[in-house]
Amino acid sequence: MLETCTICDDETGRAGAGDDSLYLEDGTGPYCERCFEIRCLRAEVERLTRERDEARAAAEAYRDLSWDRLERARAALKGG
Ligand SMILES: [Zn+2]
Repeated sequence: MLETCTICDDETGRAGAGDDSLYLEDGTGPYCERCFEIRCLRAEVERLTRERDEARAAAEAYRDLSWDRLERARAALKGG
């Protein structure tokens, strides 16, 4: 039986599940090579986007913390 790509329905040119078929780590597939590459790139973009958002959130948290400290130091100087 010919295996077809789960996205574009093209023949994958591979033997079938459990053989050398192209599945993603999340279990989706099989894909033809073109769609597999696109899915991999998309997954990579999603990963990088997540990393960027996490880095941004961390930077903002740090900024807020630094701001709080500065405000407290200012208040302490005024009060003392
Ligand atoms: Zn395809």
